[in-house]
Amino acid sequence: MEKFKNWVLSVISSSPLATGWLAFMVALSITLFLSFVEYQLKLANERERVNSKLNELENQISLALNNGISATKTLAFIAQNENDLIKRFDEFAPQILQANPSVDIIQYLDSGTIVAVYPRPGNESVVGYNVMKDSTRNIELIEAIKRKDVFFSGPLQLRQGGFGIVGRYPIFQQDTLTGFAAVIILFEKLLNQAGLENSPESDFRIEMIKANPETGILENFIPSPNSTLATGYKASVLIPIGNWNLTVQLKKSTAFSSSILAICLRILASGILGFLAWSFARQPSLLRKKLKEQSDEIMLANERFEFATKATSDVIWDWDLQSDQVYRSSQLTKMLGYTEDQSIASSQFWKSIIHPDDAPKVNSDIIEALESESPYWEEEFRVRKSDGSYAYIIDKGYIIRDGKGKPMRMIGAIQDISKRKTAELELLNANESLKNANEELKVFASLASHDMREPLRMISSFMLLLQKKYEHLLDEKANQYISFAIDGSKRLTNLINDLLEYSKVGFDSSSIETIPIHAVIEEVLALKSDLIRESGATVLVEPLPDIKGIKTPIQIVFQNLIGNALKYRKEGVKPIIKISGRELKDFWEFSIEDNGIGIEAEYLEQIFGIFKRLHPKEKYSGTGMGLATCKKIVNQHGGNIWAESLPESGSKFLFTIKKYG
Ligand code: ADP
Repeated sequence: MEKFKNWVLSVISSSPLATGWLAFMVALSITLFLSFVEYQLKLANERERVNSKLNELENQISLALNNGISATKTLAFIAQNENDLIKRFDEFAPQILQANPSVDIIQYLDSGTIVAVYPRPGNESVVGYNVMKDSTRNIELIEAIKRKDVFFSGPLQLRQGGFGIVGRYPIFQQDTLTGFAAVIILFEKLLNQAGLENSPESDFRIEMIKANPETGILENFIPSPNSTLATGYKASVLIPIGNWNLTVQLKKSTAFSSSILAICLRILASGILGFLAWSFARQPSLLRKKLKEQSDEIMLANERFEFATKATSDVIWDWDLQSDQVYRSSQLTKMLGYTEDQSIASSQFWKSIIHPDDAPKVNSDIIEALESESPYWEEEFRVRKSDGSYAYIIDKGYIIRDGKGKPMRMIGAIQDISKRKTAELELLNANESLKNANEELKVFASLASHDMREPLRMISSFMLLLQKKYEHLLDEKANQYISFAIDGSKRLTNLINDLLEYSKVGFDSSSIETIPIHAVIEEVLALKSDLIRESGATVLVEPLPDIKGIKTPIQIVFQNLIGNALKYRKEGVKPIIKISGRELKDFWEFSIEDNGIGIEAEYLEQIFGIFKRLHPKEKYSGTGMGLATCKKIVNQHGGNIWAESLPESGSKFLFTIKKYG
């Protein structure tokens, strides 16, 4: 049974359109059959109504005619047994009429002539009228004789006026016709009594037809108010006693028209049923389609998730806060070494491996995140690996809440940041030791230079004293040696000063101020005024900006570069120095251009190193610390320094200073 049910369901769902059509056709057939039966019933009902109307009318007519029959037969009996009938006619007639109220006039005909009539007033004119001799009227008289029974003629125009039907009964005395007993029933009265009327309100059309005895033409005696054709069911009956054909016809059949609305509704209902069947049959396939789409989507999402978890080294986790069950991707084994057993699936396991120093903060932060409205939580902390060592991780989670904001689920990822953390720590340590070394170097440099300068000053001053006091006692060679020693100590002093300068260069952001570069240049030029004058140099200063920085180091940069431009001049050529500055997006750029000896391309970078010199000290004095100091200062101001040059055609030194504020 179950199998059959499943088979039916599968057939239905496999062709929903056919199912829909089938349901429609079946429903339509049933409803149309019902409509047909209903129509037939209505027709039968209409027939029944017509027949009963006909019966009713026939009964009414028969009632009137029976009065006529009984009246004529009573009169005939009297005529056969009473010799003084004519004399006593007025005596019998009212009694007969009283007994037969449908009869209006009663007559006695001797042979074929009317000899007595009652009531007399209004009917006198018929007395003496020989009906037998009237060829227009005697046909039906003869019919009565033939039948030897009552026969009604008419309705016909009465001689005394009006319309009536005349019933005549032939009276025989020993088989010899002696006369007729006749009655007249006024036709209008009959129509009224019997309800033989055609009114517009009536559903029926009534006809009382008789062939004209003379002409044989069928005549209808019941007037019809309008000539509308009757189309409904028709029934007729012959009233033999007068040869009338009584017909009743339904004016209009409503059997079909009254069913039309029902038929339409039934067709509509069948259509709806078919549609419902179609949509019902479609449901399984729609459901299957939807299910397939959804499972495809889920498969795709799963696949994406699978590949994503494979592609990343992060551990993906999903924590159901209601059941406290946690899913963690298999990367956990790779990251921390734990196997995927049951203990891993609870949040307790995770809590147990958090470094005891980090656990309180992690726990309180996560509770705070869950209680807040924030959807995110993030924390860096240490967790114990399966081998007992600790890994630094960054754990990020997204909190899913219900409509009331209650946290239901948390989905997140764990990233191992041990390497980064170690590097950070190493960098921090290196920075710390660098800072310490720098500090030590600074102390050392300042101590060394101070301590070195003192004995140096002693050497040079005693050498000068020696030269001054014993110059004339010493030979030329000795004096030359003393000069060398003095020169050496001078240079050593310069070197110590420059070294001290270099080591002192530091960057304290709290000392940043606005520096009007133009004023700085003026100060530098004032310092170098002797050299400028001696060399006959021309210094062109373009408009320069005000910048933010630390003034003294910036001044040292300009001082060194302008000093070099004056120093490394070409022999016999007066130096021309151009100083300019311009604004870039994030930097200020300055340049000091000269027309001096220039620098070979291969040295353009080296010259910024400590103690780097390209010329012998005899030709150009110097320590090789100037550009190194410039580079250190510029770098500390977030900028760069470089040189452009073509030998023999001069050099151009450019540097940038980062814009502050
Ligand atoms: P120094 O004390 O020797 O001038 P610097 O560090 O200032 O030391 O310069 C390094 C070297 O770069 C110099 O010895 C010189 O050879 C070269 N130099 C620097 N400025 C210029 C310049 N304007 N023209 C040519 N050479 C220069």
